Amino acid sequence: MSVIRINHPTRDSAPGKSYGRAHMATKFPPAPKVGMVSLGCPKALVDSERILTKLRSDGYAMSPDYAGADVVLVNTCGFLDSAKEESLEAIGEAIAENGRVIVTGCMGNEADLIRERFPQVLAVTGAHQYEAVVNAVHEASPPIPNAFVDLVPEGGLKLTPRHYSYLKISEGCNHRCTFCIIPSIRGDLVSRRIDAVLREAEKLVAAGTKELLVISQDTSAYGVDVRHEPRNWHGREIRTHMTDLASALGDMGVWTRLHYVYPYPHVDQVIPLMAEGKLTPYLDIPFQHASPKVLKAMKRPGNDAKVLARIHKWRDICPDIAIRSSFVVGFPGETEEDFQYLLDWLEEAQLDRVGAFRFEPVEGAVANDLPGAVPEEVKEERYARIMEKTAAISAAKLQAKIGRILPVIIDEIGEADEEGSIGGTARSQADAPEIDGNVFLRDLQDSHPDAKPGDIINVLIEDADEHDLFGAPAGK
Ligand code: SF4
Repeated sequence: MSVIRINHPTRDSAPGKSYGRAHMATKFPPAPKVGMVSLGCPKALVDSERILTKLRSDGYAMSPDYAGADVVLVNTCGFLDSAKEESLEAIGEAIAENGRVIVTGCMGNEADLIRERFPQVLAVTGAHQYEAVVNAVHEASPPIPNAFVDLVPEGGLKLTPRHYSYLKISEGCNHRCTFCIIPSIRGDLVSRRIDAVLREAEKLVAAGTKELLVISQDTSAYGVDVRHEPRNWHGREIRTHMTDLASALGDMGVWTRLHYVYPYPHVDQVIPLMAEGKLTPYLDIPFQHASPKVLKAMKRPGNDAKVLARIHKWRDICPDIAIRSSFVVGFPGETEEDFQYLLDWLEEAQLDRVGAFRFEPVEGAVANDLPGAVPEEVKEERYARIMEKTAAISAAKLQAKIGRILPVIIDEIGEADEEGSIGGTARSQADAPEIDGNVFLRDLQDSHPDAKPGDIINVLIEDADEHDLFGAPAGK
């Protein structure tokens, strides 16, 4: 869960600045300022970016703090009870600090709860109701007529660093996993037009994005709702389908990662694109468990008994593919045998990156009523065991990279050490931002004095620990 507060607009373009010769300058009154607190997952972050992009194009300025804001937007997360509590705390803080607060996001469908606790909230709108939230801001703090509308950078306002961008391809989900309430909040799958997605990707690349992160609730299902309707893209017909999307994005010459992929059969078709270097050799597949019994109780999509064999086949085609996943331990009914099955499966699957969670009942989720609740201390013990197992696999996999030369994307330039040498923080193709590891670089500026975030350079890997790599630039 992350809280992002906007510190500054993406470029210095405050309305009110005068352009041209002094006697011709038109003075605008100061633009109303919006503060934003954005909570939740990357999908919510993309929503925040869209809202801010629209508001900026409507002539609003951004406030870095509560005090300077005419109105504060809180984009909430309602995925887990703990996330809801965090959202309510954020609303309370914004009211205490500023007083003029609009709530949006996943908790928008609990407007009564929010209004009961914070009657002074100006408006409550739901997830993806961009128009409603923008209208609420207009009402709370009207925009200046004829404000500049061409100040939005080509890629839109972004909360992520300029060199990587999330690309949301659909909303909602057709599945009904028993631990999840997202479909009841966000509804069934609605895919964006593939030409609109690709246009957005092109704009992001033109604006400096070097890495695209494709996100949705279920990337493999992209286009199912529109029967994979074909669209025209640069004179050729492409289907609203994950494989066509992956191929077209692969032509854009930047790193492209696929997140939230379920192992449907057609996923096999994107592996050769990774082997060819068109797509980043990385798949984020939220398996959640391995025991067929637990997966059945979870009602997971893509519950394929042959998935281990497919993982081996993917690695034969693309040996460098990194597979990331997440797992839930302590799901109702999970026995010691089920858990041991999961550990054995992980040993066999040798996944590169793993996140684990203890099962947490979410208000409204079907799984809460399933029999066989696992005691908290057992959940803790299983959590510790899965973390130990996956850390050992990760450490061994990273050790095997020592001595190799790998391309990395620079995220940050460091500060000079005692000897005056400047290093940096980067990521390999196996590391998605925020969730995976890093490659820590030494002596970066000795060989790359002009290095900047977003540059992709070759690095000799010299050392590794459980999650990160360490290295030095391999030539210019
Ligand atoms: S696939 Fe399952 S966990 Fe993911 S959003 Fe859909 S219902 Fe929720």
